[in-house]
Amino acid sequence: MKNFVANKLDNMPVSIFSVISQLAFEHKAVNLGQGFPDFNGPEWIFDFAFEAMKEGKNQYAPSYGIHSLKQSIANYQKNYYGLNYNEEEIIVTAGATEALYDAFQAFINPGDQVILFEPYYDSYYSDILLAGGIPKVVTLKKPDFNFDYDELEKAISFKTKIIVLNNPHNPTGKVYSAEELKFIASIAIKHDLLVISDEVYEFLTYDDAIHIPFASIPGMKERTITISSCGKTFGFTGWKVGYALAQPEWIRAIHGIHQWTTFAVNTPGQHAMARAFMKLDEYIPQFRSLYQSKLDLVYNNLLNTKFIPHRPKGSYFIMVDIPNEFGNDRDAAIKLIKEYGVATIPPSVFYSKSFEGNSMLRVCFAKQDKTLIEGVNRLQKVK
Ligand code: PMP
Ligand code: GLN
Repeated sequence: MKNFVANKLDNMPVSIFSVISQLAFEHKAVNLGQGFPDFNGPEWIFDFAFEAMKEGKNQYAPSYGIHSLKQSIANYQKNYYGLNYNEEEIIVTAGATEALYDAFQAFINPGDQVILFEPYYDSYYSDILLAGGIPKVVTLKKPDFNFDYDELEKAISFKTKIIVLNNPHNPTGKVYSAEELKFIASIAIKHDLLVISDEVYEFLTYDDAIHIPFASIPGMKERTITISSCGKTFGFTGWKVGYALAQPEWIRAIHGIHQWTTFAVNTPGQHAMARAFMKLDEYIPQFRSLYQSKLDLVYNNLLNTKFIPHRPKGSYFIMVDIPNEFGNDRDAAIKLIKEYGVATIPPSVFYSKSFEGNSMLRVCFAKQDKTLIEGVNRLQKVK
């Protein structure tokens, strides 16, 4: 038989999150790798889902998402950020992952160039290639993960169409400053670019860091597709309820892909999230202080290991420097799983321009305190 598999899959890697979770499972390692909580989101959200199921909300939802969820999303965008979105400017997707895929498919023509800041969330790179686009990479450099304004300017050509932003940032925990966002906005205007802003960690900022939605920068709302995830906000990553916000014409374009991929997102999950957003004001302070205490716990304990942490301002990840004798990030990650029973993510897969990722590991702290304590205890044994 000939090879029937499409050429575009020839060099497609297996996601590092699947690789590391599988290895962690095989070696019974404490999993501080893949980014998901190892505990449930709030009990009252279960009740909302059960209620919706018992009310018979079990068949296909409208393709753009249910009215009450879109309403809830519009309300919090207004209350938290002063941004006005109407229903035609919102689409519900199967997680942020689907919103990203749909957006890249909907806006990239073959040969279009897309600016990515590295380290980048891995699906951006593959999504861009699948859509026929060309990633152009700008490096967020250690120790603060800032970027060089000149490097960004130089990465832009007449073929550039999109800038992808992820703020708060996975994996570095960077939260972009107002000045950086305004500079990116000025570039978007100067070169007439669209911005895809992945803000799935919008509610997870620490210490004195503040999240500024890119669409709130003057002149940016009409140029920006904002993507976020109820999975991250409410701690139910497995429910895969995400969404995108943009001007109506762009939401219709994203829907053009969405209708042929998933068509609609799971109905009880959407109803539960619509109701959950109504309790956002009560929930968010608890959510933030829970994660602030997890950050403090892990960060302070990491200081007593050979893995020097870079304190994150947002997200639920910490980057740590690897001691020299451990070799590169891949070797170090595998050694930690096999010999010390701790799984982390080797971040070099999120880089394609610089070698900055080779000397770090990503540690996820969205885990129960007992998991975190066991994980850092094992890291403290590394001599
Ligand atoms: N973007 C970023 C930056 C992420 O970290 C993740 C998942 N952790 C996603 C998108 C995907 O979100 P979802 O689980 O809603 O598909
Ligand atoms: N976003 C999660 C992370 O960064 C993983 C999600 C996935 O496995 N696709 O770890």
